[in-house]
Amino acid sequence: MSERIQFLLSENDIPKQWYNILPDLPVQLPPPLHPVTLEPVTPDFLSVLFPMALIQQEVSTDRYIDIPEPVRDIYRLWRPTPLLRARRLEKALDTPAHIYYKYEGVSPTGSHKPNTAVAQAFYNKAEGVQALTTETGAGQWGSALAFAANVFDLDLEVYMVKVSYQQKPYRRVLMEIYGAQVYPSPTDRTEYGRKILAEDPDNPGSLGIAISEAVEAAATSNGAKKYSLGSVLNHVLLHQSVIGLEAIKQMDLAGEYPDVVIGCVGGGSNFAGLAFPFLYYNLREGKSTRFVAVEPQAAPTLTRGVYTFDYGDTARMAPLMKMHTLGHAFMPPPIHAGGLRYHGMAPTVSALVEAGYIEPRAVPQRATFEAAVLFARAEGIVPAPESAHAVRAAIDEALDAKAKGEERVILFNLSGHGHFDLSAYDQYLKGELQDYAYPEDEIRRAIEELPKVQV
Ligand SMILES: *Cc1c(COP(=O)(O)O)cnc(C)c1O
Repeated sequence: MSERIQFLLSENDIPKQWYNILPDLPVQLPPPLHPVTLEPVTPDFLSVLFPMALIQQEVSTDRYIDIPEPVRDIYRLWRPTPLLRARRLEKALDTPAHIYYKYEGVSPTGSHKPNTAVAQAFYNKAEGVQALTTETGAGQWGSALAFAANVFDLDLEVYMVKVSYQQKPYRRVLMEIYGAQVYPSPTDRTEYGRKILAEDPDNPGSLGIAISEAVEAAATSNGAKKYSLGSVLNHVLLHQSVIGLEAIKQMDLAGEYPDVVIGCVGGGSNFAGLAFPFLYYNLREGKSTRFVAVEPQAAPTLTRGVYTFDYGDTARMAPLMKMHTLGHAFMPPPIHAGGLRYHGMAPTVSALVEAGYIEPRAVPQRATFEAAVLFARAEGIVPAPESAHAVRAAIDEALDAKAKGEERVILFNLSGHGHFDLSAYDQYLKGELQDYAYPEDEIRRAIEELPKVQV
């Protein structure tokens, strides 16, 4: 028993309900604002982009929300995901800490993202939507939604950031295998894309531009197409709670409870998915687990951003949310963790950082690859560059526990594998990988462009 590594659940243990943190938040979340009037958005405005079921989940104050049986059925293809004790990593670090990780890389597309993609495709299909539109950076979200759209027989248009489209052809191929249409953004398919191309034909694209194109394509489709977002929004974080709900049972099997829970943060969904079900016990049951959200120094939303209302996209067509933001005009340096380059952050994660329940931490690029290679050599799994940020923080916690002689119980989310990111690892191994300091000037420039909203 003492050397047990795997803590596995059976199909019947897949949660039947998602956990919604909104009723347990210790602080008030202000509503999203309309991008033109700056008044609170109405369900009517949102219904152009999202099906009603997801709009209701976005504002629901029910603590638990039933997972539809057809969604659970698809979850069965890879859930429950394993929880493992990283004993070989503990030995390599010679630490008294106990390190556990929840591995979401076993999903069909290799990350946690199908947990919400499948749910979103299901609700869109149920409301008669014919096609979805979305953006993707490195392609993790696009491939998850392509998988889900195929399962529920929906068409999918993916606006893929042009530089990724050119540099990362394999994720595009994966999306096309599932039947999605993939376009390098900026495209000439939307008014916003044409405007950008007219000013700058060689624009390499950005996540913000691609979001604007996908939103425009849905908004101008007369209801045939709806837009789908892979992170940030409350309903996305809700769907990801299956990660933490399973992990609670698995830590129980291990006979331990985490002292610290760690996840990387782009928009906040995999972190919240693991952390919020545990955070419930801090908020309601007097536990005192620490929660660490890890971001890149190159896109330091939580550690250097401002907590204010900002647009979700570069073109200022998406609603404004109160969140930590580097400004919608922020252009991050080209780090390999494409999923962590977004300017904003989930409003719930932001509010909980502001209230002191979550500790934000920023790490430089090379240190994350160093941690990822150490992890791969000990545990065998090659982490996604995004997940490597969580690995870095978990290792740092284990080393800190060693210095203090503590048997700290560490749980982190290994949000995905890095099999599509081997060229980044190649650069790291050749010593060609660059570190980017905090982009102070770019942050200052983008923050000056923040909307002046009276709260
Ligand atoms: C997209 C992605 C992330 C970042 O998104 P969050 O919403 O913050 O989870 C992290 N890890 C992997 C593997 C991803 O694909």
